[in-house]
Amino acid sequence: MKAIITGVTGQDGSYLSELLLSKGYEVYGMVRRASTETFERINHIKDRIKLVQGDLLDTHSLMEMMHDIQPDEIYNLAAMSFVPTSWTQPILTGEFTAIGVTRVLEAMRRTCPKAKFYQASSSEMYGKVREVPQTELTPFHPRSPYGVSKVYGHYITVNYRESYDLFAVSGILFNHESPRRGMEFVTRKVTDAAARIKLGVQSELRMGNLDSRRDWGFAGDYVEAMWLMLQQPKADDYVISTGEYHTVKDLVQIAFNHVGLDWSKYVKLDPKFLRPAEVDQLLGDCSKARKVLGWKPKVNFKQLVEMMVDSDMSRVQKEIKDQNK
Ligand code: NDP
Ligand code: GDP
Repeated sequence: MKAIITGVTGQDGSYLSELLLSKGYEVYGMVRRASTETFERINHIKDRIKLVQGDLLDTHSLMEMMHDIQPDEIYNLAAMSFVPTSWTQPILTGEFTAIGVTRVLEAMRRTCPKAKFYQASSSEMYGKVREVPQTELTPFHPRSPYGVSKVYGHYITVNYRESYDLFAVSGILFNHESPRRGMEFVTRKVTDAAARIKLGVQSELRMGNLDSRRDWGFAGDYVEAMWLMLQQPKADDYVISTGEYHTVKDLVQIAFNHVGLDWSKYVKLDPKFLRPAEVDQLLGDCSKARKVLGWKPKVNFKQLVEMMVDSDMSRVQKEIKDQNK
C-alpha cells in the first residue's frame, strides 16, 4: 500500500507516518521548500519515508506527485492550522486551508481517482456551538478565518464525493495534542512554561482566556481514527473526540501541580492573547466512530497533560545542560 501525507512535518503527519510504516505502507511525505529544514518531528523516521516536494498553492506539483506515485491513500493534513494567525493572514489561510483542499482533490480526480482521500476537518467549524455535544449533524458556525476555511474544506470534500463518486472522507477532529504539538497552541505553551518555571529559566506565563473549554485528546490515538476511516467499505464523515471537556484553567492547574507549583503565582492575564471572536466551548460526541470504526481514545486528559509536561521537563533539562557545557 502506498500513502501520500501532505503536512508530514506537522504533529499529526509524524504520528500518522509512524502508524502507516508500522502497517507496512510505503509512505510519501509532501514537504514544501524552505531555506531551513522543518523535519524535527520526523527526523527519527526520515530514512523510511520518501519525501516529495510540493505545495498546497501549486496544483502542478500536486498533480505530478500523484501521477508519479499512484497512491492508494491520500491524507490531506497540510494547512495553516493556528487560529490567531488566521486573523492576521486571512487570505493566505483561505488559500492553504480552503482552496488548497480543492487543489488536492482536483489533482486526485485527474490523476488517481481510485485513491482514497482523507480531509483533516476540525471542531473549529462548530465555533459558536448550536448544540452540546456536537455530532456529525450539528450545524456549523465558525468563528475565525481558520474555522471558515475548514468549513469550505469539509464541504468541498463532501461535494467531490457526491459529484465524482470519489472515496473522500472528512474527519471532524476535536483538539488533539502531544509532546509534538506546536509551541503556540495552549497545551504546549502551558506544559513548556510549567517545565521552564520549575527549572528556573522562566518567571511567569502570560495567557488569554482561561475559561474556554476544549475536548482535548491525544494525537497518537486520533491518527488511528484517520486510518480506520479509509478502511471502511463506504466513504463517510466522522467526529473524533473524547466526549469530555475541560477549561484552560484545568489544564494550567494539572500541568503546574505535576511539577509541584501553585499556578496562580505565575500565570498573568494578557489581553494580547484574547481573540476577536472566541470559541467558548467544544465537546464532541463520537458515538458514530465508536460504533462504525470501533475506535475509542486510550489516553485521558490528565495522562495527556502529564505526558507533555514530562517530555518538556526532559527537553528543557537537556537544553540547560547543553548551554552549560
Ligand atoms: P501542524 O500545524 O502541526 O502541521 C501543519 C502541516 O501543514 C505542516 O507539515 C506544514 O508544513 C504543512 N503546510 C502548511 N502550509 C502548507 C503548504 N502551503 N503546502 C504544503 N504544506 C503546508 O498541524 P497538525 O498536525 O496539528 O494538524 C494536522 C491537520 O489537522 C491540519 O490541517 C489542522 O488544521 C487539522 N486539525 C488539527 C487539530 C489539532 O488539534 N491538532 C484539530 C482539528 C483539525 P511546514 O512544516 O512546512 O510548516
Ligand atoms: P484552538 O482551539 O485551535 O484555537 O486551540 P488553541 O490551543 O490555540 O486554543 C485553545 C483555547 O485556549 C482558546 O479558547 C484560546 O482562547 C485559549 N487560550 C487562552 N490563552 C491562550 C494562549 O496564551 N495561547 C493560545 N493559543 N490559546 C489560549
